[in-house]
Amino acid sequence: MSKVLAFHSKLSGTSVHHDNNQCTEGNNIETKNRVSGTGGLPKCDHCKRLS
Ligand SMILES: [Zn+2]
Repeated sequence: MSKVLAFHSKLSGTSVHHDNNQCTEGNNIETKNRVSGTGGLPKCDHCKRLS
C-alpha cells in the first residue's frame, strides 16, 4: 500500500477524497477528473482501511 497526495473527483456527487493508490474507488476516477487536494472532503472509508 502506498500513500499518495490527496485527490478527489471534480465530478458532482463527490463526497470523499482519496490518498491511497490501492483504493479501487480512487483508481476508478479518470485522470482527467482528478483534482489534487482533499477539497475539504472526508477521507473515503476504503482509504481509511488501507492506511
Ligand atoms: Zn479511497
